Amino acid sequence: MTDIYGQLINGEWDCSGPQTPNINPSDISETVGMMASATEAQVHDAVAAARAAQPGWEAVKLEEKKNILHAIGQELIDRCDEIGKLLSSEEGKPFAEGRGETFRAGEFYQYYAAECLRQIGESAASVRPGIHIDISREALGVVGLITPWNFPVAIAAWKMGPALAYGNTVVLKPSEVTPATANVLAEILDRHLPKGVFNMVQGGGDIGAALSRSDIDGVSFTGSVSTGRKIAAAAIENMARVQCEMGSKNPIVVTEHADIDLAVAQSIHGAFGASGQKCTASSRLIVDAKIHDEFVEKLAKAAEAKKVGHALAEGTELGPIVSEGQMEKILGYMKLAKDEGGSLVTGGERLERDTEGYYLSPTIYTDTTNDMRVNREEIFGPMTCVMKVESYEEGLALANDTDFGLAAAVMTQNLKEAEHFKRNAQFGSVLVNLATAGLDYHVPFGGRNASSYGPREQGEHAKDFYTIMKTAYTNPG
Ligand code: NAD
Repeated sequence: MTDIYGQLINGEWDCSGPQTPNINPSDISETVGMMASATEAQVHDAVAAARAAQPGWEAVKLEEKKNILHAIGQELIDRCDEIGKLLSSEEGKPFAEGRGETFRAGEFYQYYAAECLRQIGESAASVRPGIHIDISREALGVVGLITPWNFPVAIAAWKMGPALAYGNTVVLKPSEVTPATANVLAEILDRHLPKGVFNMVQGGGDIGAALSRSDIDGVSFTGSVSTGRKIAAAAIENMARVQCEMGSKNPIVVTEHADIDLAVAQSIHGAFGASGQKCTASSRLIVDAKIHDEFVEKLAKAAEAKKVGHALAEGTELGPIVSEGQMEKILGYMKLAKDEGGSLVTGGERLERDTEGYYLSPTIYTDTTNDMRVNREEIFGPMTCVMKVESYEEGLALANDTDFGLAAAVMTQNLKEAEHFKRNAQFGSVLVNLATAGLDYHVPFGGRNASSYGPREQGEHAKDFYTIMKTAYTNPG
């Protein structure tokens, strides 16, 4: 029997809406269930259910809240093989990555379980004698969470964890590309939480848009810049708080003082992990002319050694692209790089495997410049472009010359360059001798310019979005 993924509103499931098949990108003859879309009326019902449940959830005792979040995290960790496999089936990431993402999602819930117990108030002296001041934080209220397909389990967790820990109730609108894992997450959350605290509406951009203009107190979004702009505009119309984490064009600067083998290994990891479908993907490699040729030669060899295949096949290192539309878009950029004057070193083509899927070869272009569209626009696929520079200073200037600002890395064994880069790279995360992708979960995450809008996600700083401050004055008399 085909699974149908639908809405969870106030503890009740509904799958009555129009259905769309969920295709396995590793084998397009396989359907991973059907997604039933919500209606706009159901979005409003979900928000109303969250509104009704919010005061009760905020009043739940700290330790009880902590125990619930911990148990949700533990269930994800215990079931990471099963959920990871489902994630790999509908999204295409290799099983090790699907499993790892689910495990990490469990760790997010457990981190925020512990955050429930952190005392986050302050007290202050008054400028007036005898007056006491307390500054406390209360839940923002009802939050709408709109998530993308590329890390559907982890991103939902890094938004849900703090939302719940700080006493908010939630309406989640997951990506229409990954409804199956969303359904499993909703089943888990529904079992552990009181009715109405967590609600979910499935569907496409129209359902996300309905949520972003509904009666919510805040919306936290991860996805593309163009969608982020629309969501921010809708939220501001209602004076709802807004947090957007969006795309990027992340550089690695490889200086003449780099350990070349380390730089190659990190660049391969950053460019081709998750088939390049990461907001933190290392898509611009800025390499000093003195080591350029050796670096490119080793990079090409490492890329060619990568095994592209079915997400669930033994030994697969790069799975397929998530959908036909995304694959066509990436193939378009592969052609554009050539038209713009780049030289293809390796890759650049669709691959055939035992099952029909959206497989692309890891692709490297050299002789590119920073004004080419392939170095300015997010490609979101297994493709990286090398630019040759004459000095560290030129490399830093190119790295900073972007509309985005999520993550940047430098490869160098020179302390002076490393320290200078950390202070002068204009990005939310800056890394030394590490790729731009692969970040910790207990510290802030976010970017600058078009990459982010609003307060940071993750770690204890997530409270800046999910709580609202109150300043209380007391005259003890
Ligand atoms: P997307 O913007 O197409 O969709 C994201 C979500 O927004 C989906 O749930 C979608 O249904 C919904 N949506 C679409 N139109 C909407 C509208 N008008 N109003 C409200 N909701 C709407 O992005 P995607 O293709 O799912 O994900 C890829 C993008 O996500 C890339 O740009 C990537 O860089 C970005 N991303 C960013 C981060 C980060 O933390 N910075 C992390 C992962 C992915």
